This record gives sequence, C-alpha cells and structure tokens, in this order.
Amino acid sequence: DAILLRPPGAPKDKYLGGLLAAGFDESSCLSRYQATIYRKPSPHKPSPYLVERLRKYEEHHRRCAPGTAAYDRALRLLDADTAPANATEYCRYVLWGPYAGLGNRILSLASSFLYALLTDRVLLIDPGKDLTSLFCEPFPNTTWLLPPGFPITRFEEFKKKNRQSYANLLIKKKISNDAASGGPRPPPFVYAHLGDTYSTEDMYFFCERDQAAIRTVPWLLVKSNLYFVPPLFLNQEFEPELARLFPEKETVFHHLGRYLFHPTNKVWRMVASYYRAYLAAAGERLGVQIRIFSHWDAPFDVVSEQVVNCLHKEKLLPAADALAAAPVRLAAEPNNTTAVLITSLDSGYFEKIRSMYWEHPVAGGVAVTVHQPTHEGTQKTGRTSHDEKAWAEINLLSLADVLVTSAWSTFGYVAQGLAGIRPWVLVRVEKGKMPEPTCLRDISMEPCLHKPPWYVCRERRNGDNAKVVPFATHCPDLNGGLKLV
Ligand code: GDP
Repeated sequence: DAILLRPPGAPKDKYLGGLLAAGFDESSCLSRYQATIYRKPSPHKPSPYLVERLRKYEEHHRRCAPGTAAYDRALRLLDADTAPANATEYCRYVLWGPYAGLGNRILSLASSFLYALLTDRVLLIDPGKDLTSLFCEPFPNTTWLLPPGFPITRFEEFKKKNRQSYANLLIKKKISNDAASGGPRPPPFVYAHLGDTYSTEDMYFFCERDQAAIRTVPWLLVKSNLYFVPPLFLNQEFEPELARLFPEKETVFHHLGRYLFHPTNKVWRMVASYYRAYLAAAGERLGVQIRIFSHWDAPFDVVSEQVVNCLHKEKLLPAADALAAAPVRLAAEPNNTTAVLITSLDSGYFEKIRSMYWEHPVAGGVAVTVHQPTHEGTQKTGRTSHDEKAWAEINLLSLADVLVTSAWSTFGYVAQGLAGIRPWVLVRVEKGKMPEPTCLRDISMEPCLHKPPWYVCRERRNGDNAKVVPFATHCPDLNGGLKLV
C-alpha cells in the first residue's frame, strides 16, 4: 500500500521507549509502529517500571483471556451467589462497555485499563457497534474483546441504582466496606457506576476500604463517561504504585493513550494520506479544534471572532493584514509555512479563516494554508463511518506541533494527550458573551475529569478533592473539574 509505505529517514524509536511490545503482526495494524514516523518524538519517556508492568500485564492478560482454562474457571464463578473465599487465586476481570461520545469512551477505557493494571485484573471490552472498526488489539497474541455468548449481556442497560451496583449492594448490606466487622462475602459480579450521574455511595468506589471489599469480586463491570484517573491517585493505597509508574504525573494519558489506542488500517490510511497531502510539507502544523456544545450559548460570530483573536494574540498565526502589508514574494520559504488543520462539526469557521488568508496567501515569505477534513454537521456516535472520521481527525490533531482546543471537550483532550502537548484552550462562550481572555494555556496535558467525586475518602466526608493533594487540582477550562498536574 503506497500510502502506508515507510517514508525515508524514519523511524527512530518505533517501540516508543519500550512502551509498545514487540511481537505483533505489523501488517494487521500499521499505525502501531508507524505513528512515530508522523508524530514528533515525545520528550516524555515511559518509566522503566511502567514498561515492566505493561509486559507483566500482557502476560497476565494472555493467561486469563477468553479461550483459556483460567477464563473458563473464572466464568463458572458467576453461577454462585457469592465470590469464593480464595477469589484472588482466580483470574479477575474489569469489564468495560461504551458510554457517550468517542472522546469520553477513550478516556473511560484508559482509566479502566489503569485500574485493571493497579488491581491485577484483566480488561475485557464490549466493543459496542463499532469500536473494532476503530482500534487494533492493544495486547500481543491475545484479545481484549469479550467473546460472544458471555453470560452478562446488554451492558448499555446498566444504569445508576442497578440492583448489582456497588452502591446498591452497600446499601442492601450485600457487601461490606468495613473489614473489621467481617460482613458477607461479595457477589461474583458487581457493577461500578462511575458515570457523571454517580451518587455518593457510587463514589465510595475510589476509597481504600471499598477497594478492599471489591478486591475479591471476580467480575467487575465499569461504566463511565469520565476520565476517572485522578481519584485513583487520591487513593493512598494506589498512590505509591502510581508514583512509580508515572514519575511525571501529567503524562498518564499521554503514555496510556499511545499504548492502547492504535487506529485500524482503514482509519490510519485516512490519517496518513491526509497528512501527506496537506500537512507534511509545512514548516509548522497548527491544530485548531472547535467544539460547540450549544449554538445558542456560543453563536458563530462570537466564536469565530474568539478563535481569530486567540490565534493572533498568542501569535500562533500572523494577522492577515500584517501579511498584506509585507512585501509580496513569489513563494514562501518552506520553513515559513504554517498548515492550519481545523476540526469541527461545522464548516463555517474553516471558511472564515481560509478566506482571511486566501487573499494574501504568500506575503513577506510567510504562507498560511487552511484545511478541514470533514464537517459532519451533528454528532452521530455509533455510526461506523462517522466514528472512523472522528477518530481519524483526533489522530490528525495529535500530529500537530501546536494545538488550540475547546474547553470541556474530551475529543480535544484525547488529541492533546496523544500529541503530548499542552494546548491553548478556547474558553467556553456562555450566553453569547465574548470571554476575556479568549483562550488560555493549559496547565498540563492531562485530560480533565469533568465531574470529580465530591466524597473525600481520607476525610470521610464531602468536600473538594482538588484541595487534597498538590498534584490534583481544578481544571483551567472547567472550574469544577479535577486534573493531574
Ligand atoms: P466531547 O463531546 O467534545 O467531549 O467529545 P466526544 O468525542 O465524547 O463526543 C463528540 C462527538 O461528536 C465525537 O465523538 C464525534 O462523533 C463528533 N464530533 C465532535 N467534534 C468533531 C469534529 O471536529 N470532527 C468530527 N469528525 N467529529 C466530531
């Protein structure tokens, strides 16, 4: 496939400092080892301990995966009312099901994987309608897909207050988070509702004594639309291990994202060919992600002025009239071209910015080219071709040198994490009012947890989890959120 052939001079470190395992069939997932050709090398190396733990996880996964005797043995535990006393001698699992848009899914899946890694569980996923069209298998010589015929079905129907939710089991005293009192043995299957509608009891999930109670549950279903990594760092039993895995806290999703989420060949073909056609030749690539949550709150005229103001004020692009005033040359010097990649459901922003630069395409030796791969109009999560395009665009954004993202958007968080870039964030426009400043620099490249638990485990009362440790704080783009720094 000519598009996907390796360009000359590449690649230097296709295993990303040991983050990626060797031993995959390369042709089945070209992006895995080729992304490094297109992305700038990350200045953040994974810790040797993370690399070691990932290799151990992969081996554990192979031992417990569907089709093994260990899996069949664990499956039979579902027939009993309670988990066995020696449950930790069995393979134990985190089951994950899709919930909300693609960005949300990726963030909750990465969080679930980290939780599995921390608790010696194996992650198996229900891919929903189309995740197998988007992602390659992340672990060598095995699968993370739940096999057809798995006895628990319809993950989409598990909601808050489900009979088998951790909160409900606590309230009904079918599980005990009080180790001193003994309490009943937990059931073999528990549902952890970690979505943004979670209750205080659901939030107990993150606390030390609750984790002790959950430890012996062989099958744990996690459903979440959130990046629930920060509260794992607040757990004092997980924290020392997390500190060894991630000496640089702002790199958690950066490493996990590059480890787990490899576009399928179909999606990668879209990414690689678009990149080569429109972005590769430029001296600098600027990604601008424009996400509108409410057209009423954020009218077109206000947002487009906001974007232009941010680009000029932060000197991410020269002002078009400055270009006009400069002497015209016949050609831009290659190092002086900036390719702007815009992603948005709408096409209006692209047209506006392109027409600003169209009249002065080459002036003063500077050229600006403007591109937008798709404008899908509305979100259509679950439709394969729509999701493929969305995933391709997240990847294209992640190849940029500089990023401008939209406040509150998980789509942007995934791109910035894969890129390893702290973006400029367009402040959310409310009630049509131009924000001041129009954009601000993020304080870390980590995603923001939009709805942090309000229960503070170590104080045993409700409070502000952004005030507990210095490395988890409110998000610049969403004040009530929580992020690692
Ligand atoms: P969030 O809602 O911004 O946090 O991001 P999500 O990814 O969870 O959900 C938004 C969904 O809308 C995406 O998954 C896409 O399906 C669609 N979408 C939003 N913005 C874009 C865009 O710029 N390009 C494409 N192709 N799809 C988008």
